[in-house]
Amino acid sequence: MGAPAAVTALANTRTGRKAVTAVLLCLALLCGLILAPLVMVPLALAGSATTDLTVKAAGTDAAMPTVVGDWGYPLAGSYSTGRGFGYHPVKNCAICPANHFGYDMDQPCGAPIYAAGPGRVINAGPMPGWGNTVRIDHGGGVVTLYGHMQWDSLLVGVGQQVTAGTVLGLEGSTGKSSGCHLHYEVQVRGVAIDPEPFMATLGLPLR
Ligand SMILES: [Zn+2]
Repeated sequence: MGAPAAVTALANTRTGRKAVTAVLLCLALLCGLILAPLVMVPLALAGSATTDLTVKAAGTDAAMPTVVGDWGYPLAGSYSTGRGFGYHPVKNCAICPANHFGYDMDQPCGAPIYAAGPGRVINAGPMPGWGNTVRIDHGGGVVTLYGHMQWDSLLVGVGQQVTAGTVLGLEGSTGKSSGCHLHYEVQVRGVAIDPEPFMATLGLPLR
């Protein structure tokens, strides 16, 4: 019989009990010091990763990026809707990708396309697949993209500051497109998200 017997014998004396209690307290303190960083560090990391990016959308569980300033629709008045976000193959269009990363809105060819929110133009010209394209950086990692606009119709340039309602160009069918429409895309830190809940969170439902 080794340590347990010795501890029991020690615990039977007054000073022994004090010594055992002190040792146990020291061990508990040591465990706390070692374990606290292991628990606190992941908590701190989780906190910092979400602070500037997510607010809970009303009525949904989806995390939505925070945007600043007034926002509006990228088309004025009524429009018909085409493909939504996700897997939507296009009949009779071999060049149209089946996975769709934006939201298609249709008005007649030549309809003006508007900036949806305030920001800085970071692309104004041809992009593969999207044709004549404007991209706007809204800060906070949020970028909107307006694809398939008519050639030579762009009214903004790279570096220009815009607000919601600034005319960007005219609706067209450039790039991988099967007819005149606006391909409206929302990206957060380079990843396309569904524009429908994003706009809905801003009080601008797309349907
Ligand atoms: Zn599209």
